[in-house]
Amino acid sequence: MTHAPSARLLIVGPQGSGKGTQGVLVAEAFGVPQVATGDIFRENVKGGTDLGKQVQAIIEAGDLVPDELTSALVRDRLEQADAARGFVLDGYPRNRGQVDDLDAFLSGRDESLDAVIELVVPEEESIDRLRQRAIDQGRTDDTEEVIANRLAIYERETAPILDVYREHGLVVRVDGVGTLDDVTGRIFAALAERGLQPNGDGAAAGAA
Ligand code: AMP
Repeated sequence: MTHAPSARLLIVGPQGSGKGTQGVLVAEAFGVPQVATGDIFRENVKGGTDLGKQVQAIIEAGDLVPDELTSALVRDRLEQADAARGFVLDGYPRNRGQVDDLDAFLSGRDESLDAVIELVVPEEESIDRLRQRAIDQGRTDDTEEVIANRLAIYERETAPILDVYREHGLVVRVDGVGTLDDVTGRIFAALAERGLQPNGDGAAAGAA
């Protein structure tokens, strides 16, 4: 093993900003897991687990799962061995309480975030993409009413967490409008400007 640098990253943007796809590409390039709370919740709902039963109605309404439950889930995931060198968190933290929970967890391990990628996409564009996804994937929380609720929660609760991270100088703003490759290229360029580059040992090359 080479001494790959750590990469503890968040990717933040409204639903429909493409952060899921981009988060996977960034995670692959840095050789760290992508941790998407929405995906984990949906898998549990699909699998009919206790957690899934607890959160199903909340997800279908587009509301937020309680912080305690969500933060415990993320802590468990980040304690797994594959996240020792880092992670790309997608969809968490989503409000101020979760920012504090994550901070407490990381500082307890003498760790901190390296950067927060903000994907900037205008609301009309997000809505269009979510409508398309509803057709393509049939997600039960992609109905018009639930989409509106989720975007409202994003504006009210999630967008303000960027101010907190901005104060800490962590936010890398990236224009999320364009082709997938264009946006991926912008993300890697912006990370590289901060000295965050996937190791050039071959294993991580070619993700973009
Ligand atoms: P997403 O795939 O990120 O849009 O998440 C789908 C749904 O999962 C959200 O609408 C919430 O109901 C729930 N969820 C995902 N992440 C979180 C979080 N960090 N806090 C609370 N609820 C969440």
